[in-house]
Amino acid sequence: MDTTSTLPNFLGLHDSDFQFIKRYRVLLEAETGALAHDFYEYLLSHPVTAAVFRDFSRARLDALMQKQAEHISGLLASHLNKSWRESMRKIGALHHRLGIKPSWVAGAYILYWRHWQKVLQDQVPEAERNALRDALFRLLIGDLMIQLDGYARASRETDADRLALFDVLLGVLAVPQGAESQRPEALLLQQICEALPRKSASVRLAGYVVSGAMGDVLTLECIAGLPLPTLQLPKNTGDPCWEALECGQTVIRSVEDPHAPEWIKNLHNRVKEVGIFPFGEEDLRGAILIGAREKGYFRRVGSDYFHAFAHLGEMVLQLRNQSLRDPLTGLPNRTLFLDRLEIAQTQALRNERLLGVALLDLDGFKQVNDRLGHAAGDQLLLAVVQRLQGYLRAGDTLARMGGDEFGLLLPGLDNVDSLGVICERLLASIREALDIHGEAVSISGSLGITLYPLDDSNASMLIQHADMALYAAKDAGRDQFHLHTLALDEAVQAETEMRVMLQQALNDKRLILHYQPIVSSAGEVLSVEALIRLQHPEKGLLPPAAFFSALDHPSLARSIGRFVLEMALRQEEAWRREGLVLRISVNISARHLLDARFLDDLREILANHPDIPQNQLEIEVTESAPLIDMAGAQVLLAACHRMGVRVALDDFGTGNASLTYLQQLQAQSIKIDRSFVRDMINDPKDLAIVAAVITASRMLGLDVIAEGVETAEHAALLTKMGCSHLQGYYFSKPLPPEAIHAWSTRFHPILRVGDVSTFMDILPPILEGHTLRVQMFLRALRHENPFPAYTLEEDAEDYCHLGRWLRGEGARIFGQVPDFADLLTRHERMHQFARAAKSLLDAGDTEGAIHQGCLLDQESRLLLAELLDMTGQNRNRHPLLAGSLL
Ligand code: C2E
Ligand code: MG
Ligand code: MG
Repeated sequence: MDTTSTLPNFLGLHDSDFQFIKRYRVLLEAETGALAHDFYEYLLSHPVTAAVFRDFSRARLDALMQKQAEHISGLLASHLNKSWRESMRKIGALHHRLGIKPSWVAGAYILYWRHWQKVLQDQVPEAERNALRDALFRLLIGDLMIQLDGYARASRETDADRLALFDVLLGVLAVPQGAESQRPEALLLQQICEALPRKSASVRLAGYVVSGAMGDVLTLECIAGLPLPTLQLPKNTGDPCWEALECGQTVIRSVEDPHAPEWIKNLHNRVKEVGIFPFGEEDLRGAILIGAREKGYFRRVGSDYFHAFAHLGEMVLQLRNQSLRDPLTGLPNRTLFLDRLEIAQTQALRNERLLGVALLDLDGFKQVNDRLGHAAGDQLLLAVVQRLQGYLRAGDTLARMGGDEFGLLLPGLDNVDSLGVICERLLASIREALDIHGEAVSISGSLGITLYPLDDSNASMLIQHADMALYAAKDAGRDQFHLHTLALDEAVQAETEMRVMLQQALNDKRLILHYQPIVSSAGEVLSVEALIRLQHPEKGLLPPAAFFSALDHPSLARSIGRFVLEMALRQEEAWRREGLVLRISVNISARHLLDARFLDDLREILANHPDIPQNQLEIEVTESAPLIDMAGAQVLLAACHRMGVRVALDDFGTGNASLTYLQQLQAQSIKIDRSFVRDMINDPKDLAIVAAVITASRMLGLDVIAEGVETAEHAALLTKMGCSHLQGYYFSKPLPPEAIHAWSTRFHPILRVGDVSTFMDILPPILEGHTLRVQMFLRALRHENPFPAYTLEEDAEDYCHLGRWLRGEGARIFGQVPDFADLLTRHERMHQFARAAKSLLDAGDTEGAIHQGCLLDQESRLLLAELLDMTGQNRNRHPLLAGSLL
């Protein structure tokens, strides 16, 4: 309700008063020039007003004075009627918003009063003077009251505005932040922005910008109220957002400001001024944008609330920064990497340059972690990051995607060649040895990369493509980079199809095993290898080549492994019941072998078949498994060994494994890959490899199996070289299980049992080594040199030169000869003498120790003599038996 509507009545102003005033109006309006002058004096005589109006131009002051004069005329004619009251209230509200204090206004009224006093004094007849003065006084009081009413109304509006802001602030703080949201902290700012125009009648628009991924662009993250185009504000454009960020202070810009940027000018229909409230520092900055319905809004409501919002924004940025960075290296994490990738894609299109999107994986990191511990692993990661950062250009992004995998964004590339240079440089930087906890550690990296927009995919596909290329780089032998290509894409597609096919076949029980006999060089059939086949509804029986990679896929390796083990042992049992005793070899994928549950699987399946002795099962492990994780593979194979399960190293020679593997891994058999066997007759290099593997295996007491023996010539040559076992089409193709029994009864040895002399090529060096070791041992008793390895340990007799031969090839060739057992006993006794000698020596009884040494020497001579007899060599005057050793 208009509380001033009865004002003239209260003031006792009647129509007669207004008639009276009307009569003297012309007189009272005159001399406004003097009034203007007084007004001017008044403004400048008080320091506060003087400060406000100091910057006013002369013309603006003249206009102001003119307004005063007009106000007086209007007032005299007004009768304080409704329309006058309304406009005066608006003026009051405006004065309030412009920060003009009511007391200043009161001062102006005093000026009017004084001005009229003069007119009354000089020009109004005395008889009417008092009555007119009285009426004018009441008129002025009324007008002032109306204006103050406008002040009060505006102040109530301001209170309501402040209350709305307070409400928004309370609202976001009181509501628990949605835990379901991926980025709850972003939600907070968004809620503020959405609530502001909804709850405050004076706010038309609210949003926020944050400094972009590359630090030199501000990106509009959220806008509410009115739509704004996607804002991307590069640095140095003079935009008020950047201005606020750089000076760290609020910037208020009128939409009518000719210097305002277009995005602000375009708001002119709905917004009168825009306030920008910055927060954050350095590369972590943002600002809240508020568009107000009227001019002066920000001054009126004050900036406290907006500073509170900005403060929340700062906290949000800090939280976000924490959740977007890897705590160890401080690098962006996967989420931030994806964000930046999307921005980099836009920039690449705008700048018409290529963007390299790469994934980098450290080869051999796990081994360092396992061997030197996690602290060393962390140190290694930090050192690598530092190296990489040294080679990256400004604007490149390095992110830690997890574990030892890094993401890279390489924007602004001109061509594929420049990419090659950068990748080479990065890989070279990783290759250099690092000093970790005082130890020189060498690792390498594999890089997979794709180029946007040549590869015109979305962010997640780009990463997937880089990942495919990374796998290709690893497959090709690591320490290199691969570029993603369409062909690679198709290969991956084909792999997916293979996987689906294999899974389906496993579900539908369409996987079967065929068995291929393995023949000893003596012509016996001791074992078969189980080889998987897939029964395809249309294509018929498929060999593993049709689904090879799927066998080692994470989702399938273990279930296939368990299936094959169970099926093979069940078959073995069936044969056993028919009286056919065969050892069975089962191929185990690297992934299943290295799975933490592998040993449990093995135990569980063996327990299902208690009648089968453990050593009737051999697992075939390709050399890729130890290459992935040597320490893990060693532990596993040792555990299999303890369980009594045999181990064969399959496809030996294909995975660049060195012969030292044979020494590091507990295995009973080596399978020479068929690619070497196939070409050994034509290619001297292959023959040399085959010969070396055979010799090394035999000296270490391992069975050696040649795969892919297709002709009689191959079989003959391999047998001559001392190869103990043969497998191949020459003997039999892999057969369905029901055909094995018939095959084995039909099979008759094609080979003659090898002439003993063909086995004698490796014995001389072994005996020579043995004799030298005995001499060294005796000298060690006299402190002349250290004790040789494999002489004193509890099971040294199994691992010394002679022990390996006796347990391996010796047992195979001479195991049936009655005196062979004596040789084993003598050998064992030698080691007992050695251990006894050492403990006497340690107890200070040198003489006793030397005595044991003599017994050892004697035992060794007897052993050698008997062995020479057994192998048909003349023991008399044999150089190894000449002379006394002590
Ligand atoms: P592998 O373990 O090296 O098996 C020997 C392969 O050589 C078999 O191929 C066999 O049929 C083939 N072969 C044997 N003798 C000859 C010959 O004289 N000439 C030629 N040209 N080839 C011969 P297959 O059955 O196609 O198996 C291929 C590979 O698939 C196997 O190589 C093995 O790595 C894998 N594999 C087979 N069965 C399984 C299984 O049950 N599980 C897993 N994880 N892998 C398996
Ligand atoms: Mg195999
Ligand atoms: Mg093989």
